[in-house]
Amino acid sequence: MKSLMIRRMAIMAFTVSGLMTLQGPAVAAKKLFVVTTIPDLASIAEAVGGDHVETFAIAKGYQDPHFVDPKPSYMIKLQKADLFVQVGLDLELGWVPSLLDGARNPNILPGAKGYVDASENVPLLEIPAGDPTQLRAQGDIHVYGNPHYWLDPLRGKIIADNIHRALVRLRPEWKADFNRNLQSFKSKIDRKTREWIERLQPYSGTPIVAFHNSWPYLEERFPFDIVMFIEPKPGIPPTPKHLVRVIKAMKQNNIRVIIIEPYYSKKSAELVAAKTGAVVVELAGSVGAEPGIDDYFDLFEYNINKLIDAFKQAGIQPRATED
Ligand SMILES: [Zn+2]
Repeated sequence: MKSLMIRRMAIMAFTVSGLMTLQGPAVAAKKLFVVTTIPDLASIAEAVGGDHVETFAIAKGYQDPHFVDPKPSYMIKLQKADLFVQVGLDLELGWVPSLLDGARNPNILPGAKGYVDASENVPLLEIPAGDPTQLRAQGDIHVYGNPHYWLDPLRGKIIADNIHRALVRLRPEWKADFNRNLQSFKSKIDRKTREWIERLQPYSGTPIVAFHNSWPYLEERFPFDIVMFIEPKPGIPPTPKHLVRVIKAMKQNNIRVIIIEPYYSKKSAELVAAKTGAVVVELAGSVGAEPGIDDYFDLFEYNINKLIDAFKQAGIQPRATED
């Protein structure tokens, strides 16, 4: 009788301690909630954070990241966020400040532990010489340098470093995991970038026209040349006079490809294409721009494939690469 009691108690104690060990780590392992402005940053945060993070990207990949409607539901996400990551410069200037105001979460404001400006340490292109306020008054929306730097996979490694630092700051106990994830993200980036460059090499130096100036970082990394834009200035809609200039230049220089993001109207690009016989190709500006572009690696895979297809369609002959 007594031994049965003891055995029952032992079983109970075992069950209770079992529950406690189950519950203990579950509470400690509460995931960090990372809110980012664009899906590319969320994808990199997932790569570095692994199972320790849950992410939410405010702008969808098929939306124009310069202009996002600051909905109250985004403020609620930011209210709950442990970490907020933005592209910075002036990309989100039109919509992030009001969202942060509304969220009332001091932990994710600039300067706080839970804030990341992903542009930190990123070498920027096209920093204009003029006064930013004046440039903005003239309608330019890239007044601190070109903010589309996530479109270079190697700069993606710097973004990953910035996010990694913040994750370690918030959860030093998970540092080993974050380190491991960061290393594997970086080696995959290096390996894939070499592969992508090699695939574009036969089309090296091919001149291209772009609608908006989103691509200088992609162009710097990969062998093709963007020589003109359909927008006369970033953010300024094309004028007939400017389109005439573009058409003339395209004819003179035998430019046969126009690239554009899915969220811009294709009207002007198609008009120019009709006059010049060029091919209009939609490239993805972000993760999620098209179905199947689910992470940061898919983004480049998709764009490189689309470019090569467009070059072929435009009848551009691949040059033999010397080995
Ligand atoms: Zn832009």
